[in-house]
Amino acid sequence: MTVQGLFASKSKTTARVSAVPRIAIVGRGFSGMMSAIALMKTVRTPFHLQLFDPNSSVSGGQALSSVRASTILNTRVRDLSVSLGDADDFNDWLCSNAEFRAAVRAAIPGFRQIFVPKALFSDYVYQRFSEALAARKDITVQVCHEPVVAIRRSHANRFLLESAHPANPLFETVVLATGYGLSDPEPEAEDRSPVRAQRLVARPHAVLLGSGIRVVDQLLQLRDSGYPGQITIVSKHGFLPQSHTPNSADPLFPAEALPQKLPEIVRFIRTACREAEEEGRSWQSVMNGLRRHARSLWRSLPADQKRQFNRHLRAIYDSHRNRLPEAMHLRLKRELAEGNTILRRGTAGRRGLSGIFFTPAGSNIEEVIYAERVFDCRCKAPDLAMPLMQSLIGSGLAVPDELSLGLAVDQRGDLCLEDGSTVDGLFAVGPLGLGSLPDIDLVPEIVTQAYAAAQKVAEQFYPRSRAV
Ligand SMILES: Cc1cc2nc3c(=O)[nH]c(=O)nc-3n(C[C@H](O)[C@H](O)[C@H](O)COP(=O)(O)OP(=O)(O)OC[C@H]3O[C@@H](n4cnc5c(N)ncnc54)[C@H](O)[C@@H]3O)c2cc1C
Repeated sequence: MTVQGLFASKSKTTARVSAVPRIAIVGRGFSGMMSAIALMKTVRTPFHLQLFDPNSSVSGGQALSSVRASTILNTRVRDLSVSLGDADDFNDWLCSNAEFRAAVRAAIPGFRQIFVPKALFSDYVYQRFSEALAARKDITVQVCHEPVVAIRRSHANRFLLESAHPANPLFETVVLATGYGLSDPEPEAEDRSPVRAQRLVARPHAVLLGSGIRVVDQLLQLRDSGYPGQITIVSKHGFLPQSHTPNSADPLFPAEALPQKLPEIVRFIRTACREAEEEGRSWQSVMNGLRRHARSLWRSLPADQKRQFNRHLRAIYDSHRNRLPEAMHLRLKRELAEGNTILRRGTAGRRGLSGIFFTPAGSNIEEVIYAERVFDCRCKAPDLAMPLMQSLIGSGLAVPDELSLGLAVDQRGDLCLEDGSTVDGLFAVGPLGLGSLPDIDLVPEIVTQAYAAAQKVAEQFYPRSRAV
């Protein structure tokens, strides 16, 4: 069934069931679509679901479906199931896809350890969304193509959402899944003055800002599309993503209690990595093991040590947790070794007409890197300045986390207020919780949080319901 068909047929029933509870999801990225799946599979009583996002498409996650078809996810299939309690769901979906099976014969009988294109994952998520909806004749779904600019609490603990639509109904439950915020209408990805820049550079030259997975994606996309020029990666700390192991790196972590202070924790983890390598295991296994302790560890750190981690260690941590499939890492290494791509550590400044201003690390002299194209691939924090966030914070429905990286949330996505209470009916799923929950920008963690939030919705607001 097409998206339009799906929603058109569903919306016919809206008038008849207008008395049912209403749930709004703000954002149709992966977190929003995942929340919708989790709600449809968990809340067993009828409800109306309204999905807000100015981005007009409905897919398995905007960011994931919009990339080029060949761009590979950096998480293995085994960690990407969107089905609670069925870790093999994505693998099974791939196995049932004859076209994929024919193309990737080598991995038969299972695809658990491989890396697949983002667009394929997006298709899987969208199919699971469609199936969950098709299985529920008792719910209605409405898609709204507009941003939500404010949320206010109304009478009887309901929420009023302000958007371009003149009169939104009141919602009993709202899930914020706004990720990093609204994308710029005029992306500042490229300098628009190629002619002048080309006069100044001997060879085409592109600058990539950042050092994470997005930089490597952009670099490889440029090369795959035949870009022959020089590429300079400008990174503040200079840590590029490390490599995955060829085979699975099963989580491994020392049984001893972790130390309390940040420098000792770092030493502890380094020692664990070294010992793992000496025993024929990999440091990647230790990093995978660390992820299981990351939340309790983060919670136990005082705010000043969290800040210290963010300033000095986050870039190293990110380069070791967000790893590249081996083949991509080899391509990156080759690019750097051959000198067609260079890495420069320092701070990017303002854009000029023919490139970008740059201050090398350890220097205070600004220079210009001449380039006809500049791509901003830096990781962004959630946008707390956008009107929606300001309205939530201003009306006391949310508070920023202690580092102001996002909103204060707990594992179930409850918004946590300063007095320790939570806001009934209001949830935040995904990267909005980055300052509270390590790794909540990654698929496995988002899946777990979305189901936990859905379970709370089921229990608190629809007590007769039971998860399936
Ligand atoms: C290119 C790419 C590759 C990735 N690869 C991996 C991977 O291999 N493994 C892994 O685990 N994770 C990966 N991730 C990370 C993970 O998928 C992301 O953290 C996840 O996509 C975040 O999804 P999100 O829905 O929370 O946020 P986003 O994708 O940022 O979506 C948020 C949506 O909310 C909308 N929105 C924002 N504000 C409003 C508003 N006020 N009103 C209405 N709508 C609003 C936006 O328009 C947007 O569509 C990748 C992410 C990207 C972008």
